[in-house]
Amino acid sequence: MADCIFCKIVKGEIPSAKVYEDDDMLAFLDINPVSPGHTLVIPKHHCELATDLPVEQMVVVARVLPMVCRAVVKATHAEGFNIFQSNGRCAGQEIMHVHFHVIARRTGDGIGIRPAPGTYAEGEMERYRAAITSHIES
Ligand code: AMP
Ligand code: ZN
Repeated sequence: MADCIFCKIVKGEIPSAKVYEDDDMLAFLDINPVSPGHTLVIPKHHCELATDLPVEQMVVVARVLPMVCRAVVKATHAEGFNIFQSNGRCAGQEIMHVHFHVIARRTGDGIGIRPAPGTYAEGEMERYRAAITSHIES
């Protein structure tokens, strides 16, 4: 897509600190890291949301993403990592090209990724369970 920053990175029109590339995927360092080594893993195929990705591309993500996570953990001597991924501006997605953040973590690093959890009112959990189940595509 012409005005997409990540498509421009894929095409080499904008420089990036690449850590992995193959025919379908690219991984490069985030310019504003949450922790050192913060890496973005993207399918080269442009689409906005994870749910827009063709299943064949999701299969490639499943192959590449864990490999990059292991490399980030080893390179940063991390104890763990987060994978996070935002869909839609309301969810905090700034670049509308599907991407997965890989963030190295260690105990007490103070990085706040998890939002404050809530609770369900009486019967509400069952209503959501039933509603979501009814929308599962077969
Ligand atoms: P999101 O908020 O999930 O859309 O994440 C977009 C991420 O892309 C942010 O963490 C930015 O720091 C990062 N980013 C934006 N432009 C670039 C760039 N040219 N090279 C590397 N990372 C970028
Ligand atoms: Zn794009």
